[in-house]
Amino acid sequence: MEAAERQGIVGVLVAIVLLAGCAGPSAPAPPDMSGASAVVAEPTPPPLIEPPPEPPPPEFAIVCGGPAKQGGAILCRTAPNTDVSLDGKLIAKADEDGLALIGLRRDAPAAVEVGAHGPDGKGASVSVEVLARTDTVSKFEMSCKNIAPQSKEDKHKAEVSWLKKDKVMSLFSAPLAPVALIKPAEGPYSSAYGVTRTYVPKTKDCEGSTSVHNGQDIAIATGTEIHAPMAGTVLLADPDLYYEGGAVFLDLGRGLVSVTMHMSKVEVQTGDTVAQGQLLGLSGATGRVTGPHLHWGLKFRNVFSDDRGTDIWLDPMVLLELKAPD
Ligand SMILES: [Zn+2]
Repeated sequence: MEAAERQGIVGVLVAIVLLAGCAGPSAPAPPDMSGASAVVAEPTPPPLIEPPPEPPPPEFAIVCGGPAKQGGAILCRTAPNTDVSLDGKLIAKADEDGLALIGLRRDAPAAVEVGAHGPDGKGASVSVEVLARTDTVSKFEMSCKNIAPQSKEDKHKAEVSWLKKDKVMSLFSAPLAPVALIKPAEGPYSSAYGVTRTYVPKTKDCEGSTSVHNGQDIAIATGTEIHAPMAGTVLLADPDLYYEGGAVFLDLGRGLVSVTMHMSKVEVQTGDTVAQGQLLGLSGATGRVTGPHLHWGLKFRNVFSDDRGTDIWLDPMVLLELKAPD
């Protein structure tokens, strides 16, 4: 190698060293490639994967939806076919989907305890707050015949009507649909559920009486179509009951019965299965009325009680808002 050539190589090496010296302190250290420090580590065995533990059985529970209001109802979800209690007394049975409907009295306390009683002594309960209602009082003038049956024939008719209703109210049909009600007819609301009504006789031939209005009145003209508020089974379709006039008693399942009254025409028959919205008949002014309107009642029956006197009328306007818990 010539001297000039050697000088050139040295110059290049100096330049490389100088450039390396320019690198700031933050530059990463070059990897140590010297064989002395290389250690071939034994491969670490993968951690032993254990199978996950069996998931715990689903917890037995009950959850309830709202709105819970006096004269309304609560829809609760628990295991299918479970017995359900209200404040310690059996009141309903959950259906195949685990849904149970519990009617609340018009004077229900501010909080109720809903219990689920499963197999093998399994139990769960939930406390539900109940909204209070404020109902008014109203006065009606009526003929004695409309306040209570007076003649022998009317007394007989009222008794036969009562027996017909009592017989069918002890029958329970399986629910055909989830609880989701629609109004049987559109129209202005007149008398509301829960109003205390005093019936004042027009003549002096009888005593007056007081009762609580147990449904929602909708002011519609005679001949207006009445539709099924939910799918159900017709328990009783009668053109001429003493108080109700032309009426359809429709079993909606879960202990709930819809009753549409004062109809001028009944278009279904006892035993029929109807879909939600299906025509039941036409409105009118039959039975005990002061004018044409639809009276819509919803009765809740306790599946565990043979005493139909413990059944309660619920507020249809509250039940229209009923929702199942998520
Ligand atoms: Zn009414």
